Amino acid sequence: MPALRSARVSQTEEILRRLRLRTDEETAELLLGEEALTMAADQATSERSDHRPREKCGIIGCSGTTPVTSDLYYGLRILQHRGQESAGLAVYNGEMKSKRGMGLVHEVFSKEDLMDLRGNNGIGHVRYSTTGSSVLENAQPIVVKTSYGDIALAHNGDIANSDEIREELSKKGWAFMTTSDSEVIVRLLANEIVNFGGDVKRALKEFTSRLVGAYSLALMINDTVYAVRDPLAVRPLCIGEGNGRFMIASESVVFDALGFKFIRDLKPGEIVELRPNGFDSMRLPHPNHTAHCMFEWVYFARPDSVLDERLVYDARVKIGEQLAKEYPVDADIIVPVPESGRAQAQGYAQLAGLPVVEGLIKNRYIERTFIMPDQQEREIGVMLKLNPIRSAVKNKRIVLIDDSIVRGTTIRKIVQILRQAGAKEVHVRIGCLPIRFPCYLGIDMKTRDQFIANEKTVPEIADFINADSLGYLSMKGLITALKHSREDICLGCLTGEYPVPIPGEKMRKERPLELFSDLTSKKPSTKRGAKAAT
Ligand code: SF4
Repeated sequence: MPALRSARVSQTEEILRRLRLRTDEETAELLLGEEALTMAADQATSERSDHRPREKCGIIGCSGTTPVTSDLYYGLRILQHRGQESAGLAVYNGEMKSKRGMGLVHEVFSKEDLMDLRGNNGIGHVRYSTTGSSVLENAQPIVVKTSYGDIALAHNGDIANSDEIREELSKKGWAFMTTSDSEVIVRLLANEIVNFGGDVKRALKEFTSRLVGAYSLALMINDTVYAVRDPLAVRPLCIGEGNGRFMIASESVVFDALGFKFIRDLKPGEIVELRPNGFDSMRLPHPNHTAHCMFEWVYFARPDSVLDERLVYDARVKIGEQLAKEYPVDADIIVPVPESGRAQAQGYAQLAGLPVVEGLIKNRYIERTFIMPDQQEREIGVMLKLNPIRSAVKNKRIVLIDDSIVRGTTIRKIVQILRQAGAKEVHVRIGCLPIRFPCYLGIDMKTRDQFIANEKTVPEIADFINADSLGYLSMKGLITALKHSREDICLGCLTGEYPVPIPGEKMRKERPLELFSDLTSKKPSTKRGAKAAT
């Protein structure tokens, strides 16, 4: 990994002195020297030193000739399932304006806010984090003021080497105001823009060569919106067009809902510059395989989104069919865990020739159980969220279908609800392999001890959740359902082998990202497994 250019701080001291990190509460001055280093050290002790889960996020960006604020606002609402703890918008109309806040999108922005945020270009973000990092300072977009103008960033993913970059930048006098790896990204970019004398495109190419991990980015540099997808395309990002505007968003469902036309997914390592009448594209060096997150199709994305040419709903129906092939059972009805098991239940039912019955009714106003940070709250949440239709499940042999098991306590509670409602048998089918390993690439699963599959065998889990039988989808079944080759999917949380180097973990391929460091030598990479930049 190349070191940051050592002479940068001294050469550009006067420029760096003028860099500011802007927050919504106050304008914090960037500090240099001892004061900055002390500050950075103080802040490093709280959240980054524990095993805190990190964000799952949704991003959006739009460029037009008339204000795009309402498109961004409604787009963020459509992406609300990707993050419910904070939301933010940054727009440009002669100057950059932003607002971030804790809560759901409609709670964060008033009508007056949206009037104040009128702009022809803008980006937005929704974020989920757990206790500890659930603070306004980590909400996005992050806005940085530089002598070359303002930069706003919205990030989805995790940067595996952010601590290393943070440390290097801190040693050079950069002060960090938040604990988020997204600030590392924006500081690094600001640094490169300064170093390349305001040449944004060159800076964009250079700064991404330092980042290892998953990053789908919406950036606004002065009045121009950019989108960046990492070279392995781990997190989704796509582009659409409508009402004379071009938009990038985490999921294609945004375009459907806004009446925009879906154009395509961003390619691995693609950088797109949005203009009101089109977009320009350039590619970073990228391996000859991708590492799309399998969990987006299995659970996280909306079923009506198309991710990398695979409709999420179709993938889930296929998962259900595979489950029916792998784990047939004599039963009377199929009951999905709403909403996460619904499409899989359709697939299972089609193949098994059994009816899907809405045996569990969901209270739509209770947030997703998976994301509730406290275990006790999570269990209470299940009871608040689901109620059985007793007449539908009484004396029935049920196949209960859900997408995945993390701790096992939620599915145990659901089995209990069905049994208390009179179910004769409950056979649990899970549309994913056992999750055993943490995710370092943008999904909130950070420690091994939260996974029941690390403590118990499958029969033991069946006992724990009190199921008559339990079947997890096979790897072959998963790959078949996703219709991408195993090579092109990240399976890190299932196999413990990751597509990028993670300290202390195994890597799936031998040095697939070594080409990253070649970028700084300005030579196109021709190494095994790499394509040259296009
Ligand atoms: S480790 Fe799992 S959740 Fe994380 S990116 Fe890979 S497949 Fe997705």
